[in-house]
Amino acid sequence: MLMQKLNNKSLLGLNKKIINCNSCERLLEFRNKIAKEKRKMYRNENYWGKPITGFGDIKAKIMIIGLAPAAHGGNRTGRVFTGDKSSDFLFECLGNIGLANQNYSINKNDGLKLLNTYLTLSLKCVPPGDKPTKQELLNCSKFLKEEFLILQNVKAIVALGKIAFDSILFFYKKNFIFDAKGINFSHGHTIDLPDNKKLIACYHPSPRNVNTGRINLLKFTNLFKQIIMLVS
Ligand code: SF4
Repeated sequence: MLMQKLNNKSLLGLNKKIINCNSCERLLEFRNKIAKEKRKMYRNENYWGKPITGFGDIKAKIMIIGLAPAAHGGNRTGRVFTGDKSSDFLFECLGNIGLANQNYSINKNDGLKLLNTYLTLSLKCVPPGDKPTKQELLNCSKFLKEEFLILQNVKAIVALGKIAFDSILFFYKKNFIFDAKGINFSHGHTIDLPDNKKLIACYHPSPRNVNTGRINLLKFTNLFKQIIMLVS
């Protein structure tokens, strides 16, 4: 109980640091530009336009990691995987299999709760063209490191998409003795990490992957069912 209180406090402190971070000049300019210019359909909304913290159950055994916030999703709503097509698909799955209390994620006040799951990003700010530089990933990895330290029950890291997957390999190469040579992204591929966690590759729930049939709800849900078994 005491440990949990300390962890809650640490997470609040960490999130405060993340929200106030301006370390990457290029990303600071870009997130502000998006927030100012807006997408036409959201022109009457106030965009968040700041770094995005993680969200979910602090006692989670499953951590889901995306690469970075979406320009008009997280960067607009202020919560990770909230308010865009990718989050619609992701939460339809998480809600159906009981990792979320509902199957939609539309804004910060929608009542969403994650169960045994924590959702975060390798990079907390939206990058131009969804392509961060190595230095930006390195700058932001200090926050991911702290999240790993606070979320002590995590057993499985699910990387959504190849770039998120590669960013986790990059993180482990920088922080552990870990040879990632020959490890390639393949949906469902599970890798043993040097701190005894498992890394699982999962297609990103993007409209492109859904529309081309690369991923569908059944395939996505089946993988998450296997992950739930893995951490049980
Ligand atoms: S990407 Fe990370 S390190 Fe860079 S400004 Fe955003 S929060 Fe800070």
